[in-house]
Amino acid sequence: MKRVVAIDGPSGAGKSTVARGVADVLGSSVLDTGAMYRSATLAVLHRGVDPEDAEACADVARAADIDLRDGIRLDGRDVTTEIRGPAVTAAVSTVSAHPGVRAVLVARQREWADAHGGGVIEGRDIGTVVFPDAAVKVFLTASDAERARRRQRDEVAAAREVDVERVREDLDRRDRLDSTRKTSPLQAAVDAWVVDTTELAIPEVVAEIVERYRAATGAQT
Ligand code: C5P
Repeated sequence: MKRVVAIDGPSGAGKSTVARGVADVLGSSVLDTGAMYRSATLAVLHRGVDPEDAEACADVARAADIDLRDGIRLDGRDVTTEIRGPAVTAAVSTVSAHPGVRAVLVARQREWADAHGGGVIEGRDIGTVVFPDAAVKVFLTASDAERARRRQRDEVAAAREVDVERVREDLDRRDRLDSTRKTSPLQAAVDAWVVDTTELAIPEVVAEIVERYRAATGAQT
């Protein structure tokens, strides 16, 4: 068993908030794997590579230096804001579907966990593919309307004006691509705790995950 809390689910389901809450209580680090796929996608766009070109995208991902220790750096440059912008958001699900891209990033995610002695990892395939032996697996969902509302709030906070309908269309499109791809589709692991966060208070979800983690690992923290 790996001392990993795997938090999967679609965009806007509350993964980042829950992951931070759990990591704060456990005193562990968080790995946002979506930021890794977004950074690889930005590298693809920067190099003028076609997001549909599987081999070229895998080569770019292999060569990209993605550093998530202090903000998000791609080849030494801070890209924390740029990776959330519309160009990356439009291409990320296409780039992420390539098996070669996933192989590169999954290997780095496993290295990260080894270096940190485990941690809280959020994504789409953490409980199913990256850490099938995670101590706790959680799959978060929320209603489409609530997810779009949260995403729009993030956009407004980042000073990007978009209407809720466009956010909803983008979520639909990415959900469809992420859920139907052949390699590591977005899906709940059979042994995941599936939680709808539409109305549940985040602190309750965090407390339940921490309890499950302590029960699974015997950790006292
Ligand atoms: O979590 P976030 O919305 O930033 O993820 C952006 C995209 O990265 C997702 O829509 C998905 O295409 C991809 N992704 C993935 N596997 C992960 C995390 C993210 O394919 N583990």
